[in-house]
Amino acid sequence: MNQHFPNQRFLISGATLADGTHTDLLVDDGRIAETGSGISARGAEQIDAHGLLALPGLVDLHTHLREPGFETSETILTGTRAAAAGGFTAVFAMANTSPVADTAGVVEQVLTLGETAGYATVRPIGAVTRGLAGEQLAELGAMAASRAQVRVFSDDGMCVSDPLLMRRALEYVKAFDGVIAQHAQEPRLTVGAQMNEGTLSGELGLAGWPAVAEESIIARDVLLAEHVGSRLHVCHVSTAGSVDVIRWAKARGITVTAEVTPHHLLLTEDLVAGYDARYKVNPPLRSSEDVQALREALADGTIDIVATDHAPHPAEAKDCEWDAAANGMVGLETALSVVHASVVESGQLNWSDVARVMSHTPAAIGSLSGHGEPIAAGAPAEFTLYDPSATRRISTADLAGKATNSPYLDRTLPGRIVATFHRGHPTVLDGNLVDFQNGTEALGG
Ligand SMILES: [Zn+2]
Repeated sequence: MNQHFPNQRFLISGATLADGTHTDLLVDDGRIAETGSGISARGAEQIDAHGLLALPGLVDLHTHLREPGFETSETILTGTRAAAAGGFTAVFAMANTSPVADTAGVVEQVLTLGETAGYATVRPIGAVTRGLAGEQLAELGAMAASRAQVRVFSDDGMCVSDPLLMRRALEYVKAFDGVIAQHAQEPRLTVGAQMNEGTLSGELGLAGWPAVAEESIIARDVLLAEHVGSRLHVCHVSTAGSVDVIRWAKARGITVTAEVTPHHLLLTEDLVAGYDARYKVNPPLRSSEDVQALREALADGTIDIVATDHAPHPAEAKDCEWDAAANGMVGLETALSVVHASVVESGQLNWSDVARVMSHTPAAIGSLSGHGEPIAAGAPAEFTLYDPSATRRISTADLAGKATNSPYLDRTLPGRIVATFHRGHPTVLDGNLVDFQNGTEALGG
């Protein structure tokens, strides 16, 4: 029972499910108690969902919540409010905090802060190596055995470039069906890199980040995963060549999964030409050929999921020269709209596919129960109501986290989150974030 809303029931009428069927949903005691048409429930709060799509609560396998240590960028409270605003009910928090999430103590602290905030389930990701230094394995077993039950391990932000450490990490996590999520970036090939390596980087005079620096690490790691019989997950795949390697690995039977970010599905390197640091991200925006390959790979299952790589930064980290600016973009609040614009409008994914790649499969990769289940009687009440016919011009008012480093500001995107339910209670209602202390507050508009 949610401490904020004791004993409240909700009757959602006329929602459209991902498969196109229409239903009412009765939400009671943290579950979807009943589905069907014409449900009556005396005393329940009524929500008219005609024209709205009901999707299972989105699950983000790759979120930077910045706490502990970088609370000027984001906190677990503000980051999970951004998640709720984007239709997410669960996020996996990356380990590159300060202190690094490399011990049972830190991951339990992150778990507790998420529970206290109440806006989404927060599952900590544990670091692969101590302090992300790439020298010694972190306390993988202790983090797995902790109350946080860590199953996903990543040095994200850094690549586990030492092949022996990567092998040992893959071997270690087999004992508890863990997975190593690799930020695939060969460090020596990307020293000083500022954007995608190609004709444009030459014209702009910016140091290039070559596709081979990603592809060579993925190729090595799928072979290591095969050799030790363990699970590998590839973070933010960004090139057509990486897709080819993963497609080959899957055909060979290697247990590899992969994610693509919303921004790599929509944006291209051309945006860098204005030297606007909102478009600076790692891995960098790539060519339109890469974008097409990533969309096709998501459609044919070579890439398994969409993950945001939500990376909040304070304004001063972006309002500076390109070379000095931080890498990263916020993405939770706009992820579903960007997926809608990039692969739903093109006909490559339908809404059932979206539920799979943004909810079911990320929960499965992260061994997260209670999320990602189809909307049906008896399922946990973790879902979002989305208006696919809406359009909105993105402004800072749409951003619910602390940071405003969105590449979509002033861009028009389809769709709008109308409500999000977490543990049977709304975190977003009527398009407004629910403030658990003071009622609702404005979001958007
Ligand atoms: Zn990364």
